[in-house]
Amino acid sequence: MLLTLSMGTAIGILPFAIYRMIHNDWSVAILDIIVSFFMLGIYSYVYQTDKVKNAGVVLVIAALLANVISFHLKGISQVYWVYPAMMFAYFITQPLRAVLINSIMLLFYIPKLVVTHESVSTATVIITIIVTNIFAYLFASGLRKQEKKLIKLASEDYLTGAGNRRSLSNHLENLHAVLKNHDKTASIMLIDLDHFKNVNDMYGHIKGDDVLVTISNNLRTFCNECSKLFRFGGEEFLLVCQNVDIDFAFDKAEELREYIKRQNIVEGIELTISIGVAEYIKEESISDWIHRVDLALYQAKNEGRDRVIKG
Ligand code: GH3
Ligand code: MG
Ligand code: MG
Repeated sequence: MLLTLSMGTAIGILPFAIYRMIHNDWSVAILDIIVSFFMLGIYSYVYQTDKVKNAGVVLVIAALLANVISFHLKGISQVYWVYPAMMFAYFITQPLRAVLINSIMLLFYIPKLVVTHESVSTATVIITIIVTNIFAYLFASGLRKQEKKLIKLASEDYLTGAGNRRSLSNHLENLHAVLKNHDKTASIMLIDLDHFKNVNDMYGHIKGDDVLVTISNNLRTFCNECSKLFRFGGEEFLLVCQNVDIDFAFDKAEELREYIKRQNIVEGIELTISIGVAEYIKEESISDWIHRVDLALYQAKNEGRDRVIKG
């Protein structure tokens, strides 16, 4: 969106600049050309770096400042541009930040409006700017809330709240790009509940669901800012740990296995877990990495469960 808006503004302003040059209105023409080139600069910055956050705020402030300057140069006819310029802020940045930027900008318009206009039209302009901002704020914050809910629905497992398969693949793709190009490492742990079917058979599926939630919460306590938990399948979880080598991952997995065993999560059953761990090997694909951890888990199961195996 930032790319479209910056390029759209750059191209959209040019006809105005040409029109003003033809009519010898050089001050505003130069301003239009500066804004147009500034927008092109933002376009190429975002295109090359993908950094949208700061660029968005700079773009909004630049658009509003240009509007303030043209308002001071050309007078009241330019005030109509303040409405789209302020709306622009709600598209680009967070609603509260947009309110702050627009409120500060409004202060630049008020003195000239007061001096050059009768009180009724000054009040009308200011009130309509405020009302427009209130509506835009309500609409934008409602949209943000819905967006957050949708992201949560699309990326989390409904039962356990762990990341789902979709977010796992996004996470691994991003991580893979980092691991391939930098001298960094990461390890994954594939965790499977041992004989979980017995829990369902003895206590029913509802209790089984509760156990999965408890296990997931327990596993999450082992996560820090560098690791993330995903539900890999029915009773299988995958822990992705960045900047962790195989030895550290193995020790952590052992700790995890013993911790879960000590919890006595299901009465009458000693619930244990088996874990495969694998560190990323340079140049391997994500599926090869997962395949290795899968084989390690398979071996842990074959060797009697309740153990950790390195892949
Ligand atoms: P193993 O030690 O070989 O892993 O034995 P297991 O019983 O854990 O494995 P198996 O693959 O035979 O069975 C997995 C069970 O997990 C069967 C399935 O009903 C249960 N399961 C999978 N997803 C869920 C779920 O969302 N809720 C509940 N309650 N059970 C689930
Ligand atoms: Mg399983
Ligand atoms: Mg199992």
